[in-house]
Amino acid sequence: MKGIKICPDCGQPTLKIKENTVRNLVKSSDKINQTKGKWQLCVDKECETVYISGESNLKKDDLKYSLFFKDNSDNAIICYCYDISRAEMKSAVEKGCRTKGDICKLFKKKKSGSCETSNPLGKSCSEVFKFELNKIMK
Ligand SMILES: [Zn+2]
Repeated sequence: MKGIKICPDCGQPTLKIKENTVRNLVKSSDKINQTKGKWQLCVDKECETVYISGESNLKKDDLKYSLFFKDNSDNAIICYCYDISRAEMKSAVEKGCRTKGDICKLFKKKKSGSCETSNPLGKSCSEVFKFELNKIMK
């Protein structure tokens, strides 16, 4: 049985993540090409480390986007496939948007890829999006 993989930076348990997801978010793919193998993700908010594979650690600064689970600010992207930030969601709600569909229409967003590769967790953002939207509308 495999043991729990912890983040070497903060010691918290990590999640398994596909290499394609990491590849899509990293600024320079050199760091990925050096490693062969499995990637883990640290979701701890305070921790600077995001992706881990063997000796390779990718920090927040190594990534193209600000991550919603590591960043409370308006800069954080909530929907990665449509590239919608928290700030954009707020302004859309002020303009009367009530659903994700409304928001995509308002900003004329074109779908750019699937959640599996665009989202930093490699999964659909829909629950997170709903949660953020409800929070803003309150
Ligand atoms: Zn960590």
